[in-house]
Amino acid sequence: MNLTNNTFMIKGDVENIDNTPLELPFSIIRMSASVIKDMREIPALRELDLDGLSGIRLGTLRFNAIRLHAVCRYKKGVKKTDDISPSDVRCIDIHPRALTLRWAIYARFLLFHEFLHALGFSNHGKEFKRLESMWPDSGARHLGQAFGLHLRDMNTGWLWVCPSCDMKHVRYKRSNGRYRCRECMVPLMDIEVNNSTAIKNG
Ligand SMILES: [Zn+2]
Ligand SMILES: [Zn+2]
Repeated sequence: MNLTNNTFMIKGDVENIDNTPLELPFSIIRMSASVIKDMREIPALRELDLDGLSGIRLGTLRFNAIRLHAVCRYKKGVKKTDDISPSDVRCIDIHPRALTLRWAIYARFLLFHEFLHALGFSNHGKEFKRLESMWPDSGARHLGQAFGLHLRDMNTGWLWVCPSCDMKHVRYKRSNGRYRCRECMVPLMDIEVNNSTAIKNG
């Protein structure tokens, strides 16, 4: 059985079954404004070009990205060793699955983290860590692990396969022998489909 033909369907089907709305309930632009507002309250950041942050183009990563939660992409030719400012940033992309009510606290932290990269702290060195620790929502960073697990779950799908007629249904959960093929009345088998292509492209 060729599973690669089915990976395409998984996202749509799974989302619908899980009743996860595909539209983003969060405006990334509005979130950005509130993150910048909070950054203005951090004394250590006051000297930096916080106004420039609002001019950065914001976007989202692919829905099935797994490893990457957010990224700050510098413009072509900009080196990490350069004196980087917000105008050197091509865009900041946040994982679309973080832009939900459930992950809002983490999404704001992700944007703050990428904004620090945009302000010239290109690596995760001592100074970066010091500034990052000043984010008022101190529990936010610890949501990273849970969010990573969430992404992994959301990218794992199941095929319910009828062993008799080979009819396949894409599902988010296992059938665990509880469902039968409508035509053949045979219990469906579970086959796990992991969307591993997403890891490469994330
Ligand atoms: Zn980073
Ligand atoms: Zn069947």
